[in-house]
Amino acid sequence: MQVHFLTKNFGKYDTSSIGSYMNVGGFEALRKAVTMDPEKITDLLTKVKIKGRGGAEYPLGRKWSQARAVRGERKVVICNADEGETTTFKDRELICHDPFNLIEAMIIAAYVVGASDGFIYMRAEYACYRPLLLNAIRQAKNYGFLGTNILGRGFDFDIHLYSGAGAYVCGEGTALIRSIEGKAGRPRMKPPFIKVSGVFARPTCLNNVETLSLVPHLLLDDAGVYASCGSGESIGTKLISVAGNVNRPGVFEIPFGTTVREILYDLAGGIQHDRKIQLIQFGGASGKIADASILDTPYTYEDLRAAGVMVGSGGMLVIDERTSVLDFLRMNQEFFWEESCGQCTPCREGNLHIKIILDKMAAGTATREDIAIMIKIARVMSMSSLCGLGETAQNTLMSAMKVFPDLFDIGGARA
Ligand code: SF4
Repeated sequence: MQVHFLTKNFGKYDTSSIGSYMNVGGFEALRKAVTMDPEKITDLLTKVKIKGRGGAEYPLGRKWSQARAVRGERKVVICNADEGETTTFKDRELICHDPFNLIEAMIIAAYVVGASDGFIYMRAEYACYRPLLLNAIRQAKNYGFLGTNILGRGFDFDIHLYSGAGAYVCGEGTALIRSIEGKAGRPRMKPPFIKVSGVFARPTCLNNVETLSLVPHLLLDDAGVYASCGSGESIGTKLISVAGNVNRPGVFEIPFGTTVREILYDLAGGIQHDRKIQLIQFGGASGKIADASILDTPYTYEDLRAAGVMVGSGGMLVIDERTSVLDFLRMNQEFFWEESCGQCTPCREGNLHIKIILDKMAAGTATREDIAIMIKIARVMSMSSLCGLGETAQNTLMSAMKVFPDLFDIGGARA
């Protein structure tokens, strides 16, 4: 049921050796890319409809075209390897099983958008992979794939590795950039957009690990294997991570269109001790939840959206019947209360007050007015928070109100 397009190099080479990577076709995509007009590359990415895999779903071809069109010197490419969304650990697999492919992808990105510097921003918890990436960067420099006049094409590019300090909010683009600049990792207002003024005020193109990692494989995919998977706006394959009460949690590459049931029962081995599914959270803590009625839904952008959830970060968390939905929601909201940077009122106060009301519900002291206030706070947060954290922190709660309306039916105050 799994496919191996993005993951085809996994286990096939020694990740500490550039020679071993080149023996499996490493840097062939870069050699091909530098013979192509950059616009041909963005056309290809647009044709296969790659959406950003970090959760925002922004089309990659459009992003690179826009980054290329921005006027400005010393552009920057950033690889967002922060992967802070809960239950999401698929980028980690790409880093540790195919680090040279990521380096190659960043060089291709630099060639297309015209960047001279690259940063990999890696979450603090992935510190153990720093030596692997630093070695890959060093070897790429030694072989002339990084540095000056790369492959004799007259373009210069270097990559710097930067580690975060453990803040979830630094997955947000402007917070990540401030963190690289040595400032507190707090989001800022947009505009200016980072494609115009990003790290150190330089035009910046920011991409997720999985999104970037797809590019070398696509450039060599003359047979069109990728485009033969999926349909509609969900073309190709997706790397997903499954966690929670399943027998085989892990990372799987699936063709779009695989059903949720196939993912959970065939790939992840089914629910532990054949217990019933209480809920499935899609896309991490900022994602939405569904109950078992979603099992026969195909995993595509369109079908998940129609079912009230989302692909988001690609994480799936399965919670079985032993866990109280309310306890799960309290834990989820507490996460955001802790991770809010506190800079804007709707998010700082909203997360706290939602948490207080959920605690009252658990204690049996919540009133009909509390539920109404909680709904109002959640709506204000989604409309007026400064960044995506505050805008999405109540996604799980609001979707729970639809899936488990009885839980919120206090004195007739249903959602
Ligand atoms: Fe900070 Fe939350 Fe406001 Fe984002 S929404 S800037 S995390 S307080």
